[in-house]
Amino acid sequence: MTPNKSKLSRRAAIQSFLALAGSTAIPLTSLATELEARDKTKVKITKLETFLVKPRWIFLKVHTDAGIIGLGEPLLEGRALTIQTAIKEIEPYLIGKDPRQVVHHWQAIYRHAFYKGGPILTSALSGIDQALWDIKGKLLNIPVYELFGGPTRDRVRIYGRASNAEQMKQRVQEGYTVIKTGVAHVNPARAVENPKFIKYAVENFASLRAAGGDTMDIGIDFHGAIPPQTSKILIKELEPYQPMFIEEPCQPQNVDVLVDIARGTHLPIATGERIFTKWGFREILEKGAATILQPDLCHAGGITEGRLIAGMAEAYYAVIAPHNPMGPISLASGLHLAASIPNFLVQEQVSLGEGYLKTPFVLQKDGTVLTPAGPGLGVELDENKLADKINHDWKNPETYDATDGSVVDW
Ligand SMILES: [Mg+2]
Repeated sequence: MTPNKSKLSRRAAIQSFLALAGSTAIPLTSLATELEARDKTKVKITKLETFLVKPRWIFLKVHTDAGIIGLGEPLLEGRALTIQTAIKEIEPYLIGKDPRQVVHHWQAIYRHAFYKGGPILTSALSGIDQALWDIKGKLLNIPVYELFGGPTRDRVRIYGRASNAEQMKQRVQEGYTVIKTGVAHVNPARAVENPKFIKYAVENFASLRAAGGDTMDIGIDFHGAIPPQTSKILIKELEPYQPMFIEEPCQPQNVDVLVDIARGTHLPIATGERIFTKWGFREILEKGAATILQPDLCHAGGITEGRLIAGMAEAYYAVIAPHNPMGPISLASGLHLAASIPNFLVQEQVSLGEGYLKTPFVLQKDGTVLTPAGPGLGVELDENKLADKINHDWKNPETYDATDGSVVDW
């Protein structure tokens, strides 16, 4: 595909093709005229604009000469300035291009980089991908999920957070039916923890189970911060309380260790926030390392890649629960994914868009939000409310072992 080819050369190519095919059924002039007419409806990208948004996000606006602006969140937490530079480096490729060729641009940005993937480049690509789908939906005046043959559902289950019984009761009142919690601890987990550490974590989870009852789905996030030796002990002790899933029971670099942990328990293992593209999730699925995949649509390759990962997962009876500690554009992307795939489980969120969107999402009484009905991603930024949230200086926490000062994961 060569979008910059001149009309003259395109016409010549068509004429040459038809001559070779021996076709005289379609007049050459009418075909050329049709293509020229199509060229006139062409929409071009004119500018990419990023801005940092509190607490730690980046919003992207992809401008077009049609006056339509696509929104995306190209973010890697703690590397906002690096991502801004990555977007600047990609911008010259996109200027003048038709934003509707979303998959084509995904391929070009990913593959022409030569050094493919990595968190920075796939995060930049992810936000661009979201914005291009937003533009395409707006141009066609339909929601993004319609482009993918949806809706597969009309509401989307989301989860809230609770770290103690009191918070759990509050979430129940609010309508949540799924909660995620972390591992309660008074010190960062050491390689092999003692019974006191394990008991403290398990008793806290038991209190959440008691407060939420047996109908509440409660996932627990190990955050990759519990060493695998301790993870195995902790998972065994949590089994009687039936967590909905065990998330990131070890760091993601060595999938075989995750496989080992997964084979030691009947509880579902979840992972994916630090795994990128279909190539990253391929190994997880093939080795049976997890049955709940949590691609982050701001990291893993956007909505385009999220759908492909979901398709791969379906063949393994695995389900999708997008990771999302990001903003409302990321949330909207997840909702459109949920509304266009069959194997969706639950959507993470930390903001329903209050203070960011003209019309924030609303938690329904059954713990869901409605799929966005507007064109594109269906969200509109409230620039007035955003004004005091522009710029941030968010940094990753630095965590150390209190006993010897060595570096630990957080
Ligand atoms: Mg997590």
